[in-house]
Amino acid sequence: MNAEEIDAKHIWHPYSAMDSNMPIYHVESAQGVKLRLKDGTELIDGMSSWWCVIHGYNHPAMNAALNQQLEKMAHVMFGGLTHDPAIELAQLLVDITPKPLQTVFYSDSGSVSVEVAMKMAAQYWHARGQAQRKTFVSLRRDYHGDTIGAMSVSDPETGMHSVFNQLINKNIFIDQPRCRFGQACDENELASIRQALSEDNIAAVIIEPIVQAAGAMWFYSAEYLARLRTLCDECEVLLIADEIATGFGRTGELFACNHADIAPDIMCLGKTLTGGYLSLAATMATNHVAETIDSGEPGVFMHGPTFMANPLACAAALTSVRLLLDSPWRDNIARIEKSLQLGLAPCHELDNVTDVRVLGAIGVVELAYAVDMKSITEAFVDRGVWLRPFGRLVYVMPPYTIDDADLDQLTAAIVEVVTNLSIHS
Ligand code: PMP
Repeated sequence: MNAEEIDAKHIWHPYSAMDSNMPIYHVESAQGVKLRLKDGTELIDGMSSWWCVIHGYNHPAMNAALNQQLEKMAHVMFGGLTHDPAIELAQLLVDITPKPLQTVFYSDSGSVSVEVAMKMAAQYWHARGQAQRKTFVSLRRDYHGDTIGAMSVSDPETGMHSVFNQLINKNIFIDQPRCRFGQACDENELASIRQALSEDNIAAVIIEPIVQAAGAMWFYSAEYLARLRTLCDECEVLLIADEIATGFGRTGELFACNHADIAPDIMCLGKTLTGGYLSLAATMATNHVAETIDSGEPGVFMHGPTFMANPLACAAALTSVRLLLDSPWRDNIARIEKSLQLGLAPCHELDNVTDVRVLGAIGVVELAYAVDMKSITEAFVDRGVWLRPFGRLVYVMPPYTIDDADLDQLTAAIVEVVTNLSIHS
């Protein structure tokens, strides 16, 4: 069997069937913003490998930092031990995230960091003698991960979780905010969430701040987020902000919560944290949450993954975040935003397009119908770009290091492919 046949016969790919007829492209190497396939084809990466690779591939400073750490140690357990990469990264995260977030819990993926956040909320209420508070409130079209707890707070329909209904806790979903980013938001938009929070069994509200990513690619009003923070305070419910997709500049602010100038009680970080080099996540919490958990039974927070604070991953994260902070990232995201707005503008005119929206380094073309993944992926590859739409959404989230010419090629490919779909529909 050749390599592709072994892949087809033995390997599951994300959200796929083993007998899938979807094309799988074999990547040999990646450099800057380009993926190089085994047959020599080069593709401009419009996905940043699911939104992580902000500095591009094979980055010299990232490679050097990892090599340096490798010479010292690749891994060491975190129970009873610590190390510089974890310490320096924690200090940096505490310095740049909203001020009340003072504690850092490392884990190995975004989904796990959400599980950790939910367990923190549960232990917090347990310690306060209100163990009945174990229901979470989330937004329709939110996505928080694929593990059992994270699924239970992700939209049951867009998350296709109905198969697991018997397995997951029943949580409460509130209609997604319809007030768009940049618009005002009336207090009435929060009427149903206010109603939900009046019950005495709510542990926390968990939301994707500003951008509902994997479930909708929807950008909502910062005023909604600000009002939600106030409401959680009024109702004495914790607010968990899942910044896994939005953190580290993607929306034009370092964290999406900054658009509303709010601090959550618990915040999840992942994806971009390591610049897309290794899997690492962090759940940050306020001192109040941490101290309350400590004060209850069993007096410790009950979680501790094997690869917690992996030194290589922490070294990658430290370098990636420093690279970002040392760059003119705000101007750069504004440049990408402008280019996406201009480049995608022709889509506004197409019959099959219901909406075009851009925020920071995220560009979205929403269609009237779901795309055919196989043919649209092939059409993009034919045009030298890597994009992976889902449902009715064709979107682009490039590495921050992309230049204007490559950005133009990405948006031109989207306009052309969506135009062809409109002609043939
Ligand atoms: N939360 C959000 C907002 C996400 O976008 C994702 C991943 N798409 C996750 C959680 C889960 O992260 P991971 O895939 O690293 O488990």
